[in-house]
Amino acid sequence: MITRRYALGLLGAGALAPRAFAQARHVYDLTPVQIADGMWMIEGSTDYFSMQNGGAIVNIVLMKGDSGLILLDSGPSLRYGEALTTVARQLDLRGVTSVVNTHHHPDHFFGNQAFADRPIYALGETLAAAKAEGESFADAMYRLLGDWMRGTEVVPPTQVIDGGNVMIDGRAFHALPLGGHTAGDLALVDQKTGTLLTGDLVFYDRAPATPSADLTRWQQSLNELEKVEAAQLVPGHGPVDKTRAAIPQTRGYLTWLEDTLRTAARNGLDMVEIMETPLPAEYAAMGAEPGEFHRSVAHLFPGIELQELPRAN
Ligand SMILES: [Zn+2]
Repeated sequence: MITRRYALGLLGAGALAPRAFAQARHVYDLTPVQIADGMWMIEGSTDYFSMQNGGAIVNIVLMKGDSGLILLDSGPSLRYGEALTTVARQLDLRGVTSVVNTHHHPDHFFGNQAFADRPIYALGETLAAAKAEGESFADAMYRLLGDWMRGTEVVPPTQVIDGGNVMIDGRAFHALPLGGHTAGDLALVDQKTGTLLTGDLVFYDRAPATPSADLTRWQQSLNELEKVEAAQLVPGHGPVDKTRAAIPQTRGYLTWLEDTLRTAARNGLDMVEIMETPLPAEYAAMGAEPGEFHRSVAHLFPGIELQELPRAN
């Protein structure tokens, strides 16, 4: 702590703004914005995980239920979940009474620990994946975020949600059990407000992340989401979309990404050469680029190279 304060002091007076102090003390600054009747969103940073953002890169939605608030995704850490508890009580004194996880990536469910005594809903695939991969994600998150993660333990979801019409704490949703960003990606249509909550099947002005991706299945899921009539769309990362631009943008990026990697494999490029290729301007301008593209090359290229360059016997 002393070392950290001293380091801040070296940065001069400009670094001593309230935000710098908040970061030094590892306090999340969460601001809910009302986006529909009985619905609030906390918009995440469109950057990658960093010591500066504490992993607060994900969109969180809070919705009025009969007994309190329904929380969609719980953030990257115990500390974040605790901050959500405080924010929720300001919106509704009863606080969060049920939780839904859209998928098993750590920025979306590592805040579950703060709500471990309440029902936590997710697709069956998400429960299984959270149990199978949670600890390795935790290891990576502690390395990336250090003290922001203090005390965080993996708490997988507990209640399986299926597709079709579902009621969660008296609020009606249509659940779409999809996948492709991960093995199980839950999208929800909130019937009261006509809001489509896509989780990470849709990114908006932020590069899609692909560590668990099946690109073909992801594109099929985007086709399903495109059929949904919705007043607005809340992506997993990026701003609320009222113009229906986010789905085609995500589709276009994933198509470009796969084409780029397949062409590179056929042309005999290696991963370093691909990473050195400049991104098209529309994608270079997205949040988390070019880092997310570089990570996608590492995730996806080895498999694509095997498909494109079969062994000659
Ligand atoms: Zn994700």
